[in-house]
Amino acid sequence: MRKPFVAGNWKMHGSKAMIASLINDLSRAWQQGDKVDVAVCPPFVYIDYVQRTLNNPAIKVGAQNMAAEPEYGAFTGEVSAPMLKEFDCRYVILGHSERRSLFGEDDDLIARKVEVALNARLTPILCVGETLEERDAGITEQVIERQLQAVIDRVGGDAFADIVVAYEPVWAIGTGKTASPEQAQAVHAFIRDKIRLLSAEAADDMIIQYGGSVKPGNAMELFSQPDIDGGLIGGASLVADDFLAICNAA
Ligand code: PGA
Repeated sequence: MRKPFVAGNWKMHGSKAMIASLINDLSRAWQQGDKVDVAVCPPFVYIDYVQRTLNNPAIKVGAQNMAAEPEYGAFTGEVSAPMLKEFDCRYVILGHSERRSLFGEDDDLIARKVEVALNARLTPILCVGETLEERDAGITEQVIERQLQAVIDRVGGDAFADIVVAYEPVWAIGTGKTASPEQAQAVHAFIRDKIRLLSAEAADDMIIQYGGSVKPGNAMELFSQPDIDGGLIGGASLVADDFLAICNAA
C-alpha cells in the first residue's frame, strides 16, 4: 500500500505575516501524519522561516526548484542541493510547467536536476503534463512519455521508487479546470505502466500525484482513483482550511 502524499506549491506567494498565520494553522490542525505525508514548498527565502515556525514534525518542507550543478560555484541566482539539505528540505519540485514554459527548462536540464537531487538524497517531485493543444492533438501520452524518458535515460527505472511524479495537465493549472478523475487516472496508469516495464517494484512503490486546480470539493474523487496517490496543490495550498481539507481527503 502506498502512503498518499499531498504537497503545497506556494509558487511566488507569501510574506512573513501570511506564512506565520498559515503555518500556525497547519501545525495546529494537521493530525493524520500516520496516514498521509504532507509537505509545503515555499519560495527559497522563506524556507528557513517556515522551518522555524513549524511546530509539527508531520509537515515536511520542500523547495520549488534547484540548480542542476551539484555543489557550489559561479552560478549567480542559483540554489544548490546541498544548500536545500542544510535547511532540512526533504523534497524539491522539478520541471514544473511554469519552469518549462516561462524559464526555458527542457527535458534534459530537468533530468540532470533529478539526478542531482537523488544524489543529494532529496526526493524530486518531477512534474509532467501536456498542454491543451497537445491534448487536443491526441499526443498526451507521447508528451508524457518523452518527459519521463529523459529522466529514465539518466537515472534508470529503479530510481522511480525514490521519485514522486506529479501529473499536472498544463491546461488545468491555475485555471479552475480540473482533469476529470477518469482523465487523470488514465494518465496515471500510463505513467505507472511505463515504469513497470523497467521495474515492477518501483512501479508499485512510486507516488504519482495529480496537480491542477485541486480543491476541497474535487480532491476526494480524484484521490479515490487507484493510481492517484495524492496531489500537488497550488492556489488552494495558500488557504489553511482548504489545504487541510485536501490533505484529509487523501
Ligand atoms: P493549482 O496549481 O492548484 O493552482 O492549479 C497546481 C500547480 O501548479 O502545482
